[in-house]
Amino acid sequence: MIGYLIDMDGVIYRGGHLIPGADHFINGLRRADVPFRFLTNNSQRNRRDIATRLQRLGIDVEEEHVYTCAMATARFLAQQKPRGTAFVIGEGGLLTALHESGYSIVDKDPDYVVVGEGRIISFEMVEAALRMILGGAKLIATNLDPNCPTEAGLRPGCGATVAMLETAGGVKAFSVGKPSPYMLRAARKELGLTTDQTIVIGDTMETDILGGVQLGFKSILVLSGGTNHEDVESYAYQPHMIVNSIADLEHEELFREFSNPVVPTRSRIANLARGPHALLTAAAE
Ligand SMILES: [Mg+2]
Repeated sequence: MIGYLIDMDGVIYRGGHLIPGADHFINGLRRADVPFRFLTNNSQRNRRDIATRLQRLGIDVEEEHVYTCAMATARFLAQQKPRGTAFVIGEGGLLTALHESGYSIVDKDPDYVVVGEGRIISFEMVEAALRMILGGAKLIATNLDPNCPTEAGLRPGCGATVAMLETAGGVKAFSVGKPSPYMLRAARKELGLTTDQTIVIGDTMETDILGGVQLGFKSILVLSGGTNHEDVESYAYQPHMIVNSIADLEHEELFREFSNPVVPTRSRIANLARGPHALLTAAAE
């Protein structure tokens, strides 16, 4: 058995539009009953909203297929300090996840300051959070992404807000989202997969691929998002495979490659190339 942890932005859609062929790969996983989760570092929406958005793009998924960094953060905090309190800089997805895990949202004396992303963050909220941190609240980041892609261009991400609080408060946040092992491991366990059976598919070296490499998962970089092929070589860690798009992947072929104990060679992986999107390179382990 193998299963997948799949990033969404830049892999399944880009700028609100489906990446051509992404639906074919995912719908194929559903038909073959292959375990997978969509993993997102966006904490704004809850899993049902995300599933609905994917369904409208023609992807056959249920809310159980979605795992957000907000959910991972809520689970982490519930384990660290059950029924605690949090001051939240973030939006609905994060608030819902914390509530569901038994947390109370407060605006005074919280156990934790929890930071997500959103468009309604104000400097007053950051100022309030700083005072709470200086008063002893622990700083938790849902993720450390420096920016988020939008239709109009980039906007500051969760990592940018967290950096402001770290600098001002002289503290270091604990981050739960990708590439943190916490989120990736929790998603793997939810699928009932072993390390060897888990494949990460993503478009970002610093989150998807780094997280996969750190946990010993197989990793596939897609070039349909924010990473250029020329940039990849400069990283000290490399994905197992690089393809133009998730549309170039076939589950049966990946199963043959990755469930085989023999390390894939460049020529064997090159046989995976299909259709007009040629497989570009494969980095042998
Ligand atoms: Mg992405």
